[in-house]
Amino acid sequence: MSEPGLRRAMLFIQPTRLPTDEPLIDELTMRMTSALRQASVPDYRFCGVHVCICGAVSDSTNRFLANGAVTNTLCVHYLAYHRAEVPAAELDAVWQLPAIADAPSPAELGAPEYRLRPEPVNSIIWRVDGQIREEVDEEKEIVRWRYELVLDNRSSRAACVRQASFALSLDAAYSAPEIVEAGWTLAPGEVRRVPHAPVFRVAEFLQGRSPQIAASLSVASHKAITWEFGGTYADGKPLGLGPAVVALPTPYNWNQAI
Ligand SMILES: [Zn+2]
Repeated sequence: MSEPGLRRAMLFIQPTRLPTDEPLIDELTMRMTSALRQASVPDYRFCGVHVCICGAVSDSTNRFLANGAVTNTLCVHYLAYHRAEVPAAELDAVWQLPAIADAPSPAELGAPEYRLRPEPVNSIIWRVDGQIREEVDEEKEIVRWRYELVLDNRSSRAACVRQASFALSLDAAYSAPEIVEAGWTLAPGEVRRVPHAPVFRVAEFLQGRSPQIAASLSVASHKAITWEFGGTYADGKPLGLGPAVVALPTPYNWNQAI
């Protein structure tokens, strides 16, 4: 177990959604805190740090837990602020840690005051709020998603989104773009929530595809939604809002980074 590459990696994840406002400090977060405090520092350094989507930063060295696993110093942060994106297998691994409950400090939590400040933005931006809820109907080969797209006008001008359209994709096969009734005007600082419940029907993606591509598409294919927006700010300048790609997070392969 002395080779870092042979150790079980714990909580090397890359959240894609915003953190919760308040940390979740429960049995799991506290077990992880205790285990991290008792961890040893390996005699190698990772070249660089992990930066969470919210700006929380790990230090530049991983930690070896008493059980032999390797983790990084954002492990407590992920459990406290991004619990919904922690895979079940990782939660199980945390349950296996000794039942010692240490309350984490704000620094260990990666509380807002310990995060990198985002560059000030003076434009409209998009994000997905919360989680994408997925329902798979294997028999009918249908996948339903439910999520909320958020448009956030961080500029000092009103923004008019004249048109929004989206296309669904399964791997590299795209559906025809569908235009959504838009004409949304967002005052400076205004946030608009757009609930979306798309349905991926595998049969529709198979039409007109080559047999090789058709054979590779299924409910397990990588699913994504690509949004495009058109419009202008009150001063006539284009929104410049690039395509928004909405997809489920893919697991981060830590072993390739060691
Ligand atoms: Zn974070």
